[in-house]
Amino acid sequence: MLLNPLTLHLPKTSLEAARLYKELEDSKVLAGGTFLLNSLKLLKTKRTKTAGHVLSLGKIDELKGISFHNDTLTIKAMTRINEIFESPLLSGHLRILHAVCRNISTNPIRNMATIGGNLTCRYTWTEMGAVMVALDAQMHFLDSDGHEEIISAENFFKNAARCEKLFTHVTIKSKPTASVVYRRVKKTLHVDIPLLAVCVKTEFNGKQWFNTRVGINNTIAFAQRDLVLEEFLNKSISSQDLGNEALAHLTPAIYDTRASEYKQHIFRVSLKSAIEELCDSNI
Ligand SMILES: Cc1cc2nc3c(=O)[nH]c(=O)nc-3n(C[C@H](O)[C@H](O)[C@H](O)COP(=O)(O)OP(=O)(O)OC[C@H]3O[C@@H](n4cnc5c(N)ncnc54)[C@H](O)[C@@H]3O)c2cc1C
Repeated sequence: MLLNPLTLHLPKTSLEAARLYKELEDSKVLAGGTFLLNSLKLLKTKRTKTAGHVLSLGKIDELKGISFHNDTLTIKAMTRINEIFESPLLSGHLRILHAVCRNISTNPIRNMATIGGNLTCRYTWTEMGAVMVALDAQMHFLDSDGHEEIISAENFFKNAARCEKLFTHVTIKSKPTASVVYRRVKKTLHVDIPLLAVCVKTEFNGKQWFNTRVGINNTIAFAQRDLVLEEFLNKSISSQDLGNEALAHLTPAIYDTRASEYKQHIFRVSLKSAIEELCDSNI
């Protein structure tokens, strides 16, 4: 047997799942399974005790799908990365999710992995986090009494992505005036996990930047904002030099946790080019 013996739970509704999520001690949630099943197999080979209960979300239809109403995009927890990639509902600045999904691993993984797993798995390098922080996304959770709790992606990752309730969906407000760019750097030329991810969203009043949010994933800490950079950009106007000038206004602690000079440098290259791309779209 590949896995240690376990009890598989297959709730049919979100509420049933939220109750089991609270009640079952010694349990793990199964979404797409791309991390969980691997980790259960690996732990077994190391003869480490594994969870006695697995709570699968696969049969809960109300946790699946993407919709767009009242200027708000809703992506439910069990939506696969490839479904987001192929969605016709990603328009305006939300189209950036298409580029983010395209970069995630391979087709077979994208056909299994879910947005819920990506955001809540607590691996610091998964890349939806920085994007959701930059887009000011709201994460929705359900408790065992059926009450919904909404936490901004920013606060969720500030709290080390601790997920005490069932994650049900994420919502993002569409802003027709917003522009956004995304950069990710990987170690090799092949399909690879990111070394860093940077997402910059802004709005322009003429050439003046405002409402800028910079989501950073340095892959060591959870996704976070660079507030110093945002403050600088919000006082700036688009120009050919802005990318360079911005590099003097970073929060060093975010970038310099990366040990090697190469990694610290490549962060600056990515930010500069992201800001330049936004300027080019505005000049
Ligand atoms: C080979 C490989 C390459 C990858 N490359 C990338 C990459 O380049 N970029 C990237 O961003 N990601 C990458 N990933 C991660 C992938 O995108 C998935 O996000 C990740 O595998 C987990 O998603 P899943 O749906 O399979 O979750 P699962 O493995 O099923 O679950 C993982 C954990 O997430 C939590 N969880 C899931 N859903 C919920 C929920 N609704 N409520 C509460 N907790 C929940 C649970 O703790 C669960 O145990 C890669 C994964 C693999 C295996």
